[in-house]
Amino acid sequence: MDKKLLQAIKNGREDIFYNSRTWRNKRKQILERDNNECQICKKEGKFKPADTVHHIKELKDYPKLALIDSNLISVCFSCHNIIHERFGEQKSRGEKMGIPERW
Ligand SMILES: [Zn+2]
Ligand SMILES: [Zn+2]
Repeated sequence: MDKKLLQAIKNGREDIFYNSRTWRNKRKQILERDNNECQICKKEGKFKPADTVHHIKELKDYPKLALIDSNLISVCFSCHNIIHERFGEQKSRGEKMGIPERW
């Protein structure tokens, strides 16, 4: 992991990380690994294309896990919002979508 990126995350500049080539390549790799399918929907027997790669352990709390495959999971937009509301560690980026809790 690039020291500059690690430092950026620690400084609260996650945008620098997300805009980096390193992350974009990793993100692509994870989406491919997961066949571009939302892994949460998949567990429920549904198919939905993934458009987001989520950090299972929050980026800002575990910057060292930022690029670790086992900490990354492909999810769809709605599941991603649900994850972040449910665990409440990070305000969901989009507005509240009015998605009902499913679990
Ligand atoms: Zn999903
Ligand atoms: Zn996330």
